[in-house]
Amino acid sequence: MQNDSNYNDFNAPIIYFRKKVKSFVESRSWTKYHTPKNLVQAINCEAGELSQLLLFKDYKKEDILGNKTLLEKISDEISDVFIYLISLVNCLDIDLTGAIAKKMEKNTQKYSEEEFNNGNYYKK
Ligand SMILES: [Mg+2]
Repeated sequence: MQNDSNYNDFNAPIIYFRKKVKSFVESRSWTKYHTPKNLVQAINCEAGELSQLLLFKDYKKEDILGNKTLLEKISDEISDVFIYLISLVNCLDIDLTGAIAKKMEKNTQKYSEEEFNNGNYYKK
C-alpha cells in the first residue's frame, strides 16, 4: 500500500479507504459499536452537522469557495459522512464499486435523458 500522502481523488482505490477506516476502528476496539443501526444513525448525525453549516444561510458556491474556514468545516463534515459510510460498507461487506455501478444503471433507467432534462420532466 502506498504512503497516504501519495493518494488523491484521482488514484485512491476504495480498498484504501476501507482498510484505513477498518484499522482505525479495530485499533480502538470500536467494532462492537459499529453496528448497522449505529452507523446509519452516525451517518445521519454527520449529514446533519454538514447541513447545519448552511442552515439559514444563503451562500452561493463562490461564497463558500472564498471562505477558507467554512470550506474546511464543510470538508470535515463531508469526510465524517464518508468515513461512516465506509464503516457501514465494511460492516456489511458490500462491494461498493459494484453497488454504485448497479445503482447508477438503475438511475439511468429510471431517469432517462429524454424524460428528465435540465430540471424539467417530460412525461412519455
Ligand atoms: Mg462531524
